[in-house]
Amino acid sequence: MNDGTGLGERKRILTGIRPTGALHLGHYGGALENWVRLQHEYECFFLIADYQVSDYAEDITRVREAVWDVTLDWLAVGLDPRNSHFVIESLVPEHAELTLWLEWATPMGWLERNPTLKAELAGLEARGSVPVAFFTYPVMQVCNILMPKAHLVPVGEDQLPHIEMTREVARRFNRLYGEVFIEPQGLVGRIPRLVGTDGDAKMSKSRNNAIFLKDDAATVTEKVRRMYTDPNRLRATDPGRVEGNPVFMYHDAFNPDVEEVNDLKERYRAGKVGDVEVKQKLARALNVMLDPIRERRAYYESRPDEVRDALATGAGAMKPVAAQTMAEVREALKLNYLERP
Ligand code: AMP
Repeated sequence: MNDGTGLGERKRILTGIRPTGALHLGHYGGALENWVRLQHEYECFFLIADYQVSDYAEDITRVREAVWDVTLDWLAVGLDPRNSHFVIESLVPEHAELTLWLEWATPMGWLERNPTLKAELAGLEARGSVPVAFFTYPVMQVCNILMPKAHLVPVGEDQLPHIEMTREVARRFNRLYGEVFIEPQGLVGRIPRLVGTDGDAKMSKSRNNAIFLKDDAATVTEKVRRMYTDPNRLRATDPGRVEGNPVFMYHDAFNPDVEEVNDLKERYRAGKVGDVEVKQKLARALNVMLDPIRERRAYYESRPDEVRDALATGAGAMKPVAAQTMAEVREALKLNYLERP
């Protein structure tokens, strides 16, 4: 489909990740796996949202390392920068300008009722003072999506409130100033929210319950060995609970051998298999899945110029798209002060 910009014939995807560290299985099942599949159908902008990390208030080096880690993980899972655009947000400063204009079309109440934001705010408050930029980062996400006029935004379940807000802001901006933006659709991945290895509701780096895509085989095996299972099961002969058991959730999510998984479940329920075997089989399945990802990561780690090229090309592709959208925004907002009436 031609979207009128002349910059691409395919429908567009915009999605992204905040550079807070290396990526984990939650990112993979909730988002990346979908992105790898969709990159052939859509023109994809994969954004590293470096304007949006609270680490800036604390440690810039950490952000720089995380940008590199995210890029390597993207290449490792099979995102192809020849076919899609890897964009570091701050290399296209129009993002900052558009965010500011969109803030005028975003009532504070919309931020206040966003459940993901509320949860994050509570976490930040517990750690100390909250930077002002925290309150505007959701509007920046809205801006990220609206900038290339994305049709589809594949994300994990926690991001759906942000996409709903994007639709509302687009609608409001168009009504107030004129039709500029389109309303995007969200698309949740195969695993909307992967639990942590500790059984906590969400795998995340900050909760220290993540298995990273770059973890080596021994680390994965050790993390799986220590995983939370059915707390009421004391011996291998006790009947165990499969439902809500993170080890089985991971089997369901990542072990392609359905027969093996069903057999383990049956024996677990009947008290005929120990946690050790269930975990060994999970570790093996994860390592088989992660091996080619590790190999590709090692390939790119030893070729930093190729990685930098991917980032330079991506920013280069985003710049004209951003310029086009900003031209339309400026016209809608009547910023042409210096033109004659
Ligand atoms: P973030 O690291 O919070 O910027 O998230 C990047 C993307 O990964 C978003 O689409 C999230 O929804 C998704 N994601 C992060 N953690 C998980 C998880 N534990 N389960 C499913 N999706 C996740």
